[in-house]
Amino acid sequence: MPLPLERDEIQQLTQELEVMIAAHLGWFKKLNLALLCGTDVPAGSLDPDAHRHTAFGRWYYSEEPHPLQEYPDFQAIGPVLEQMHEAARTVASGRAAGKALQPADYEASLDLALKLNTKLRHLQLEIIGELLSTDPLTGCFTRRGMINRLQSEQERSHRIQRPCCLCMMDFDHFKQINDECGHQAGDAVLRQGIKFAQNILRKYDSIFRYGGEEFLICLPSTPLEDARQVIERIRTGLELLPIRALDGKTVRVTATFGLVEMHPRKPVEDSIAASDEALMRGKENGRNRVELGSL
Ligand code: GH3
Ligand code: MG
Ligand code: MG
Repeated sequence: MPLPLERDEIQQLTQELEVMIAAHLGWFKKLNLALLCGTDVPAGSLDPDAHRHTAFGRWYYSEEPHPLQEYPDFQAIGPVLEQMHEAARTVASGRAAGKALQPADYEASLDLALKLNTKLRHLQLEIIGELLSTDPLTGCFTRRGMINRLQSEQERSHRIQRPCCLCMMDFDHFKQINDECGHQAGDAVLRQGIKFAQNILRKYDSIFRYGGEEFLICLPSTPLEDARQVIERIRTGLELLPIRALDGKTVRVTATFGLVEMHPRKPVEDSIAASDEALMRGKENGRNRVELGSL
């Protein structure tokens, strides 16, 4: 799976793809005009490696490393691009030799050009989907795709025979922070609090924004006791963390945590519910604590 992209990178890639889709359609229009009205065939279209000569082809085969290159949908475009140019060459060279347009050949070239367009749109949607998978405030994952990601972790955990832990985290008295310090200070708490937690977690741990000020942490390959120690470090660090609000004031916050070892076979939703129940107990037992749960 490709690495998660930053939000501005996603926006830039979406626009870049839009420009390239327009370039492809521009070439396609010119080719059709040539075939149907006898205008000039787009430059280089009769060459054996025409797929590398168009604006689109130069972009696609560029030597420059590009984040899209890791996407299977991007890689799948190459063969279609080659087939499309081969089909276009067949019809265009026939026309150049004065032959009538053959419906079967023409249809094949149309189908491939449209197929390429569809593939590009799919890739663009996949990239936009990533935008919806990251929370703009904290940068962590949203609930979109969360269950799939957790199921993958569950399968992996089963395969490598290492436990995976789940922890529901909820900021304490957060409504009060908003009421007393303002909504922007509340946002700063979420942003800086989650950044702090991310710095303690490992690269392959993940945080999902589960609800407003509620976050689900996934700790793969971690026994419950090890996870408890990591979460304790987050909890104790958080209560000491001076959070800077926009007006320069310092805000203090604590959080409560419900930690469970993910069940290897039961639906991941059951493990989430168990961590949520443990969190509720943590709230009842006085907040600012790590409560263990079981399934
Ligand atoms: P508890 O300790 O029991 O968790 O109490 P609480 O006040 O944290 O919980 P409650 O559910 O009563 O309030 C949560 C508040 O979080 C209400 C909601 O307006 C606020 N909130 C949710 N999302 C955001 C956000 O993105 N930014 C800010 N500033 N506030 C948010
Ligand atoms: Mg709360
Ligand atoms: Mg809450």
